[in-house]
Amino acid sequence: MPPIQDRIDPLFDNESTKNQLSVLKRVYGYPAFRGRQAEVVDRVVSGGDAVVLFPTGAGKSLCFQIPALCRDGVGIVVSPLIALMRDQVEALKQLGVRAAALNSSLTREEFLDVRRAVADGSLDLLYVTPERIVTAGFKEMIGNSRIALFAIDEAHCVSQWGHDFRPEYRELGHLGELYPGVPRIALTATADPHTREDIIDRLGLRSAEVFTTSFDRPNIAYEIVERDQPRQQLLRFLSRHKAASGIVYCLSRAKVEDTAEWLNGQGVRALAYHAGMERALRDANQDAFLKEEDLCLVATVAFGMGIDKPDVRYVAHLDLPGSVEAYYQETGRAGRDGLPSEVWMAYGMADVIQRGRMIDEGGSADEIKRVERAKLNALLAICETPGCRRQAILAHFGEAHAGQCGNCDTCLKPVETWDGTEAAIKALAAIYRTGERFGTGHLIDVLLGNENDKTTRFGHADMPVFGAGKDIPSKTWQSVYRQLLAAGYVSVDHQAFGALKLTEQARSVFKREQDVRFRKDRPTTGKAARHAKGGSPAAKAELQGGDQDLFQQLRALRASLAKEMAVPPYVIFPDTTLIALSKDRPQTRDALLGISGIGQSKLERYGDAFLKVVRAAD
Ligand code: ADP
Ligand code: ZN
Repeated sequence: MPPIQDRIDPLFDNESTKNQLSVLKRVYGYPAFRGRQAEVVDRVVSGGDAVVLFPTGAGKSLCFQIPALCRDGVGIVVSPLIALMRDQVEALKQLGVRAAALNSSLTREEFLDVRRAVADGSLDLLYVTPERIVTAGFKEMIGNSRIALFAIDEAHCVSQWGHDFRPEYRELGHLGELYPGVPRIALTATADPHTREDIIDRLGLRSAEVFTTSFDRPNIAYEIVERDQPRQQLLRFLSRHKAASGIVYCLSRAKVEDTAEWLNGQGVRALAYHAGMERALRDANQDAFLKEEDLCLVATVAFGMGIDKPDVRYVAHLDLPGSVEAYYQETGRAGRDGLPSEVWMAYGMADVIQRGRMIDEGGSADEIKRVERAKLNALLAICETPGCRRQAILAHFGEAHAGQCGNCDTCLKPVETWDGTEAAIKALAAIYRTGERFGTGHLIDVLLGNENDKTTRFGHADMPVFGAGKDIPSKTWQSVYRQLLAAGYVSVDHQAFGALKLTEQARSVFKREQDVRFRKDRPTTGKAARHAKGGSPAAKAELQGGDQDLFQQLRALRASLAKEMAVPPYVIFPDTTLIALSKDRPQTRDALLGISGIGQSKLERYGDAFLKVVRAAD
């Protein structure tokens, strides 16, 4: 096949912008660039460096793929995960792009093929692991071949600050010296300023133009609930997502396995994924998740980076992540295709204690521990906010949002608040009177006047505060303590097994200088929601009646083609394309080209098969 450049209408040759747009249309079948894509593409095509900070699903891949196709030579993409390179390369091949991956899983034969293609100049894109790219062997292999650009994907891996630090990424700082004059583009969905500085600094990108966009993910609905009966709560959440792909995150490997097994017993098809599993099984489960369209993957955070499955319809957290950054990155794996998706988390005080203990036992320097505790508290504050979740999350990343997003639990079903000044004083007094040595369980026993071994032994049954909180149920006291913690009136002493202590701020509550309002607990059943059961919920929301039937037929065709070719279905067409086909019902090959996601190569490969199904529909 001739290189992409030669397949482009020569009329556009000297007009760079038109050329870029023409590649977008012809190769990808998309009518227009999105957001700041066009600016990034322009910058890199003209030889400049770029740092791209866009949220997941914004379309970062095109920001380096199109410049690689528009410039002379091969575009080299650094990507941290070998397992995922294969799918990315396959997706590009489907588009008619000449792509290959270079990694340790290649046979000698395959390696030589890649080498030859590089030497011939017959590759558009080459995916490489970070450890390989800075070696003398790689330089030798490149020889005199032209390099269009270097793209450094998942660039946050260079930062020790984040949670995916890869020491190999540090070496990428030398690329500028090793290959002068080749533009570099670093991309990540991580927003925090510290990581961003690290990327610019460590990768030597001081003169790069930095591109950012809003980090909002409007198609993702947020919901955070108090943990009560976590498995039942999870099951209720999953019942809204039958026949859809999703991820359930758990903190420990043991919990991953137990939860997956339990879900299967409940009729939810679930597979496990964690770093302690046998390699082959783990890879097989990941592969199944990518290829199937209705699987629940129960995983630790070991799963997710670099996964570009676009149709993840939900992400559930059974345990609290360690920071807002981690929460946002994990939930961000939902809805890459822009279709409606839901994320849900159940949490309780026990999470805060456990996370705090992990920080304390983590062996970091004191200063880092302090930062980690602050990050944990920031997430807790989002969990406890009576306001719009989206607004609170974006505020954490320094982005203003007007609130009232209409797509989070607190907006859909506004939280009621109550005057908690008296309750706060009692709750704080219980901590103070018992010597700041006890956790919430015992403190609540004291407030409720529950006589037991512990309250008697410590003489707490004789104190005035004993039984002073009988008028409020135990569950509400738990919520009160969480909210006092989130608001900074109390802190957890992890050295003392999660004992609560008063902070300086607590004083103002005792002195009644401060009114305290608490959010009201919600009943744990149901939620304000409008969810279709069964089928494909995202498509259901978009399509009606006959269109929905056609969508199901197209989906079945896609599934059988994908199976035949052993690729994930979204590599053939994303759901958005099937939805557009179901709505617009194009009747000719020409009309097919007007559908977003159908370019020249996909038309050749699949046009007739899909056209046949569309034409047969009434
Ligand atoms: P990111 O890497 O930023 O998470 P991707 O590059 O995976 O996002 O893109 C997300 C989805 O959006 C993909 O299915 C991609 O093909 C699609 N997409 C990207 N750019 C456009 C565009 N300009 N028009 C339509 N779809 C696009
Ligand atoms: Zn909201």
